[in-house]
Amino acid sequence: MKDNSNAIDVIIVGTGAAGIFCALNLPDTLSIHMVTKDSLENSASYLAQGGIAALRDATDYDDYFEDTLRAGHYKNSRKAVDTMIRQSPLIIRELLDYHVRFNRTGDDLAYTKEGGHSQSRILHHDDITGKEITSKLLNSLRKKSNINIEEYTRMVDIVVRDEQCVGVVTIDKSGTPKVLFAKAVVLATGGIGGLFKHSTAFSHITGDALAVAVKHNVKLRDVNYIQIHPTALYSEKPGRRFLISEAVRGEGAYLLNAAMERFTDELQPRDVVSDAIHKQMKKDGREYVYLSLTHLPADMIKSRFPNIYQHCLKAGFDLTKEPIPVTPAQHYFMGGIKVDLKGQTSMPYLYAIGETSCTGVHGKNRLGSNSLLESLVFAQRAASDITQNIPYRPTEPIDIDLSYYVGRDFDQEYKNIVLDEIKRRDTNFYEEWCNDNSKMG
Ligand SMILES: Cc1cc2nc3c(=O)[nH]c(=O)nc-3n(C[C@H](O)[C@H](O)[C@H](O)COP(=O)(O)OP(=O)(O)OC[C@H]3O[C@@H](n4cnc5c(N)ncnc54)[C@H](O)[C@@H]3O)c2cc1C
Repeated sequence: MKDNSNAIDVIIVGTGAAGIFCALNLPDTLSIHMVTKDSLENSASYLAQGGIAALRDATDYDDYFEDTLRAGHYKNSRKAVDTMIRQSPLIIRELLDYHVRFNRTGDDLAYTKEGGHSQSRILHHDDITGKEITSKLLNSLRKKSNINIEEYTRMVDIVVRDEQCVGVVTIDKSGTPKVLFAKAVVLATGGIGGLFKHSTAFSHITGDALAVAVKHNVKLRDVNYIQIHPTALYSEKPGRRFLISEAVRGEGAYLLNAAMERFTDELQPRDVVSDAIHKQMKKDGREYVYLSLTHLPADMIKSRFPNIYQHCLKAGFDLTKEPIPVTPAQHYFMGGIKVDLKGQTSMPYLYAIGETSCTGVHGKNRLGSNSLLESLVFAQRAASDITQNIPYRPTEPIDIDLSYYVGRDFDQEYKNIVLDEIKRRDTNFYEEWCNDNSKMG
């Protein structure tokens, strides 16, 4: 079976905040093709609750920089952190131009605080910030006549000629493979939550781009830096775990053990709190601890966390009256495809942005609310680099034998590739969190 589809200027794989913002930042003169594995809205970006961090004013630079590094155990790339922080005010102004609404106090933007942040510098839209940002960006994207979007289409490979990326292979719902050629390919496929039994992310987000990168010797970085969120609503049912945002602890919620006693400082960075909860669960002989807001005003809980309040209510818990059971769950991938500050991978004309990439900005552990920001900052930088780099790149379709892609079990094949990489880098982490016999895998 052979196929030679028409060349496109830029292919973007993934329609989360990173993919969409990259597309919006490319000139209208380029023809852009986006593919996404599920529906447009089913991305982690839509699920972000807490908010987006931003440099409030120049006096906060040092604290913001230090908070990000401290959370990341000082394993961060300082240049990437500096770039993200300095570009954040511009990104917020642009989001406001896209009609994104953030909560305000009077006319002023209302900045709030989260675990690990020493200052109030998080902007939010109630507790559905990701939906507000991503849906507004999508509204603008839909108006662009130079952008074509294919839903329910999975990228299963990249096409490489002379060690340069020249396109992708996709598979649609019916299992039919297709090749698309382009002058640049942007991987924006999000994290790896779908590889874990307990994750706050959608199960179709399985790190496909990483597996493809490994197959083609594209460099990865820090693949063992995987964040476990301390507080997902405990459930025995399979599927995505509902996240109880960091901001809930930021507003004063307590973590309680089986004896209903506090056992840790709730505002420590995520990995520290996750570890403390795990130890406590072992001591208590249970698969959860409790999170309690009952000492906080009921009106504040309902107005500050309407989405979380309603979700818990549906699950049978009234946040204003009773503690809820919570458990750690895979939440975010700090590592990924190694990129420079322009989103370039180790393969020419192949870019990676958002959670699937690793700029080194988060180090070993992400500071809450830095990831939407990172996605947008580096998506914009990649778009700018692509704009400068591709105009004169010739593209010629090449023959690809698509029969290789028919009937393969990519789910299992790619899961094995990614988990093997994690194991190779960090056996202890793999055994504790990824192994099939462990709590998560
Ligand atoms: C529950 C939850 C709450 C969060 N809260 C916050 C928060 O408050 N603040 C914050 O900053 N961050 C938060 N995050 C993290 C943040 O949402 C993500 O890191 C960020 O949105 C990643 O954006 P992205 O565009 O890289 O990936 P995503 O938004 O996950 O998008 C990935 C896209 O790639 C597509 N895709 C995947 N594989 C393929 C494939 N093989 N072929 C085609 N398409 C593919 C998916 O369908 C999807 O469209 C949260 C995450 C979760 C899960």
